[in-house]
Amino acid sequence: MRKNIVAGNWKMNTTVPEGVALAKEVYEALKATKANCDVIICTPFTHLCPVAAVIDQNVLGLGAENCADHKSGAYTGEVSAPMVASTGAKYVILGHSERRQYYGETAETLREKVALALENGLTPIFCIGEVLEQRDNGTYNEVVAKQVEEGLFNLSAEDFGKVILAYEPVWAIGTGKTATADQAEDMHAHIRATVAAKYGKEVAENTSILYGGSCKPSNAAELFAKPDVDGGLIGGAALKCADFMGIVKAF
Ligand code: PEP
Repeated sequence: MRKNIVAGNWKMNTTVPEGVALAKEVYEALKATKANCDVIICTPFTHLCPVAAVIDQNVLGLGAENCADHKSGAYTGEVSAPMVASTGAKYVILGHSERRQYYGETAETLREKVALALENGLTPIFCIGEVLEQRDNGTYNEVVAKQVEEGLFNLSAEDFGKVILAYEPVWAIGTGKTATADQAEDMHAHIRATVAAKYGKEVAENTSILYGGSCKPSNAAELFAKPDVDGGLIGGAALKCADFMGIVKAF
């Protein structure tokens, strides 16, 4: 059966000492609580080694926010999937809308990144989501299905089964505007049907689909109660232990 997951996306926030302190705080809070879901934090590259050293990943999983679309070589400033894996991290966010929007990530580069992540034993948390104009003009179902198809449908069923999906309507990210629980459920069911049409019902039923976009303690329980919403990818609220734990406890 698919897992319920709450994953934090720290984005470009916190210095290394601040990040290590936050990771320790979340880790200690999790040890003191019985979480009813898997919990992951995805941090800047610089934080992965020192954070990996202070947490037990059976309690709190660790991931990166991106990786390169090449294995190694003359790509100044890039960080490869093998490098991420060598820190001890187990996850990598790929295709976040900020990467697509500001760094020109395309389906083609994302296919390379997904393949390299999987080859190196990393679980991709693959983000998809429409912009406001596409929500308003009613093309959002097609847009999101296309992102899933173009980014992932080259994978074998076995490899697809290793991927976590995160539906993040771009108009809801960092804006304080959350999709309603019904809007999230409709899209998650649509994504699951898209996966089922390609890989069959069993693979689709086993795929965790997270919701992301201004998820907070006050709205998490309503979102997570929906049958196709298997947890959240959390930006702003992942930067405060109490808020992040408030979301974890929504399960
Ligand atoms: C995100 O960027 O993945 C995200 C969901 O951000 P926020 O929770 O701040 O909207």
